[in-house]
Amino acid sequence: MSRVNQRLQQVRDRIAQACHRAGRSPEEVKVLAVTKTHPPEVVEEAIAAGVDAIGENRVQEAAEKKPRVRAKAAWHLVGSLQRNKALELFDLIATVDRPSLADTLERHLAPTGRRLPIMVEVNLGREVQKGGILEEELEPLLEHLFLRCPHLEPVGLLTIPPYHPDPEQSRPYFRRLGQLARTLAGRFGLASLQLSMGMSEDYWVAVEEGAHWVRLGRVLFGERQQVR
Ligand SMILES: *Cc1c(COP(=O)(O)O)cnc(C)c1O
Repeated sequence: MSRVNQRLQQVRDRIAQACHRAGRSPEEVKVLAVTKTHPPEVVEEAIAAGVDAIGENRVQEAAEKKPRVRAKAAWHLVGSLQRNKALELFDLIATVDRPSLADTLERHLAPTGRRLPIMVEVNLGREVQKGGILEEELEPLLEHLFLRCPHLEPVGLLTIPPYHPDPEQSRPYFRRLGQLARTLAGRFGLASLQLSMGMSEDYWVAVEEGAHWVRLGRVLFGERQQVR
């Protein structure tokens, strides 16, 4: 069994325990393996181990890496979108946070007829250095998406809480994202909006609070070489 395989088993165990505490089914929780800074072989290993999708935060890095990965997987963009090339590479863009970006994506998708699942990134901690829309702008953005962007399919919300060494400090942010998702799903008549929340240091708290996607890098692959 590979190292990544073992680590993924441990992660899935911990997710199952968190689900048990929260009265959820572990099948509701997917693992997005965030492979930034890691070579294509590591991506292959992650796919072989059975992660649910691959996450990258830089379009250029993904453009170099993806052609060298033979195993099939869904790729999600979890970093800011710097180039339209992202549309060729990714199956889901999880960082839509403003109408102008949605319009750009819509303009490129419309002629192709392709519908792209997206998530809206929410900056719940109101941190100036972070991407994501402020929560009071969320409803207008969703309205914009539904009215003006027929080729974008909002499937969920993503958040990264302010960094704190104590994972319990993330809990109120995770809970808030869940509340927002329920309110918005109700308002826009959606069956549900998925929650992408929780990283290596707080994913079990996120699962207790309803996460459908946890985004994991270091707990699966060890420390990254470059700091990003
Ligand atoms: C890097 C990254 C992660 C994974 O972070 P870890 O702490 O290594 O688990 C998750 N989400 C986003 C958006 C990232 O950029």
